[in-house]
Amino acid sequence: MRALRPAFLAVLTSSAVLSALCASPSRAWDAPTHTALASLSLQGDPALGGLVFAESLDDFLASQGETVGQFVSELKLNPSTSFGFKIPGEASGASVRVLDVFSTYINEPDWGMDQGVCAAYAGYCGRDLAFMGAFQRGLPSQAFRHMYWPGGYVKTLNPSLPIPVHVRRPIGQAPDRSQLFFDWSVRAGRAGHPYWAARFLAWSMHYAQDVSQPFHAAQLPSPRLEGRRFGLPDVKRTVKKLTYYHLAFESYVDGLVASEPSLTTAIASAPALTGISAAAVTRAVAAKSLAQARRAADAALAFFPPLPDIDHTDPQTYLESASFQRALAARATDFAARGEFVSIASSCLAEGAGASRALVALYFQQVGSGIAVRRLPAAPARLPARLAAFAAALQR
Ligand SMILES: [Zn+2]
Repeated sequence: MRALRPAFLAVLTSSAVLSALCASPSRAWDAPTHTALASLSLQGDPALGGLVFAESLDDFLASQGETVGQFVSELKLNPSTSFGFKIPGEASGASVRVLDVFSTYINEPDWGMDQGVCAAYAGYCGRDLAFMGAFQRGLPSQAFRHMYWPGGYVKTLNPSLPIPVHVRRPIGQAPDRSQLFFDWSVRAGRAGHPYWAARFLAWSMHYAQDVSQPFHAAQLPSPRLEGRRFGLPDVKRTVKKLTYYHLAFESYVDGLVASEPSLTTAIASAPALTGISAAAVTRAVAAKSLAQARRAADAALAFFPPLPDIDHTDPQTYLESASFQRALAARATDFAARGEFVSIASSCLAEGAGASRALVALYFQQVGSGIAVRRLPAAPARLPARLAAFAAALQR
């Protein structure tokens, strides 16, 4: 720990303000992006091109001598989570494509399992996780599991002594959660439950993909995100800018994965990362993400229209407005800014894709066989149509 006073922190007066620095956007990639990352990066793997028989979590856990309640409390999951089936036509005993399991359940960690856990399990969360919003309610409370800041974080020395200090220790559980579900995947695979091997492996991939979003690998990705008032650094405006560009980055990438061929090519052709464990793969992704966080944030600053009336505009509302679409369209002729944004987004997504492949490779190493129990009876449907169907199913 070392005392530090970057410009934007000079006016900080409370840890509550500091904790707001990342608190609102907490999903990382939106569902269609996770789905595209899983589908495009894994579709060519022959070991995944088959079918498995769906099985409820209750049935799988019963075979392991456990109940869902034990599983939930042992893994410190949101006690009100349930684990139903989401693939159209999926039911216990029905055959489903392995790739469909990945493409759908890659999003399951965002469906509530990680929300409210610090409140539910007294003493489980260290106080510094407040800097990732862990003690808030609802969606922001899951952020600490979906982020990892390898470069550490800035906090106040203590509530009564608001001096900013830089803690050099990394923070965030993404690598641990990726490892936890990877281990469950291997356990299910070895025990002869390939459906749960795939579904847990999809959960594991989710966290590794999340930290390929640069705003999930750094507290303040670029100093240019600092907001100012009367020429002085201003924390509220900094939080507003950070939230806006974070959300804009994610929602625009969502559209790009469906429409930008260079991006889909980058994902589909990304080489597998290497790592000795799921946690190591996730940490490596976060380190690369941190290294390109500033470039990513600066590209977003150059490409997206600035927030009009920063003090009164809600970032999410503005992003969903027609005036945002108009302002963005007016800037679309700036091909250099768009090209730089697409380029850095490709680079981030390629890391997420490489991590997915790496986790599959690690799984095969440890289990010694593929996941499918039955080959596909016919050639797989064309991917773009499948992607669109998944995205539509997930939106419902
Ligand atoms: Zn997430």
